[in-house]
Amino acid sequence: MNMHEILRQNPEIWDTFTRKEEYNSPIRDQYDRFPHYASRNRDIFEPKASQYLNEHGYSVKYPHDAPFAVCLTHDIDSVYQSIPSKGLATLCSLKQGKLSEAFHSITRMRSKKMPLCNFSAIMEVEEKYDAKSTFFFMTESPGELDYSYTIEDLEPEIGSIIDRGWEVGLHGGHTAYLNAQEMREKKERLEKVTHKSVLGYRNHFLRFKVPDTWECLSKAGFQYDASFGYADCAGFRNGMCHPFRPFNLNTNHEISILEIPLMVMDGTLDHTYMRLDNKRKWEFVKMLIDRVAACHGVFTLLWHNTDMNGKNQEMYENILQYCNDKGAWMTDGCNICRL
Ligand SMILES: [Zn+2]
Repeated sequence: MNMHEILRQNPEIWDTFTRKEEYNSPIRDQYDRFPHYASRNRDIFEPKASQYLNEHGYSVKYPHDAPFAVCLTHDIDSVYQSIPSKGLATLCSLKQGKLSEAFHSITRMRSKKMPLCNFSAIMEVEEKYDAKSTFFFMTESPGELDYSYTIEDLEPEIGSIIDRGWEVGLHGGHTAYLNAQEMREKKERLEKVTHKSVLGYRNHFLRFKVPDTWECLSKAGFQYDASFGYADCAGFRNGMCHPFRPFNLNTNHEISILEIPLMVMDGTLDHTYMRLDNKRKWEFVKMLIDRVAACHGVFTLLWHNTDMNGKNQEMYENILQYCNDKGAWMTDGCNICRL
């Protein structure tokens, strides 16, 4: 039996898996997202569909017989630091007596743009744990909402990400999630910079509509999506911690795209949504990782490049260390797709 046939045996699990309640739901937030608070599923911290699959003989083999996998991802919303945060960094350097660092910061403050192209620093952190990741880049143009950089300007940085063996995917803008043509055009624009096929996708703000976004992604020629998680709550949106082919309840057909469900976005744990302090954040993330590991699933993490500093970077490294200690295979979306 394939995955869908197993899940169909239990109507409650099947409804959770297909996200039946999201079809035609009148409750959407200001970004047209179905929020967790509107869901009847109160067991979002349990990967119930994956547990059900395991109980019925479903299993995935990972390289080196790893017990579970981790899919690491970064959304690149911005490659420039704001002046106030740069000013703060300068003050911190001065306070700690790091004069040369302070001087460096001041010199950079004078220039109009504050580059935050910390991609190689991120890759160095990941390399320590034998991990790889996907960087999702935007290809917005001036005038589009949240335009913040021109993708062609980053060709050297993107080239070095790809040369080191990391993946570059598309981070679709605000309106792309319902527009296959926009997705395809932006994919092609990014491919002119990457000089190779772009396989993976995540929408900005995790904007997503079941099942329309999956259908658009399939039409636009993507192989996988990694947008499917709630912005307002971490966990297992459809009870899955395994990649899956979505099922369209309107057409009664499987959709030809692989979904690598997202469990944790850095910002979800913070001030805007779950409001966890650092200690609770760490305990909570460990609990989710343990549950994914128990199911031999894939723990998908979204950590913005702008959160790679101070306590946030420490937390990211702690997660990598913890998963490494548990024997996880830590990789990018493209490698998960090839399983
Ligand atoms: Zn974004």
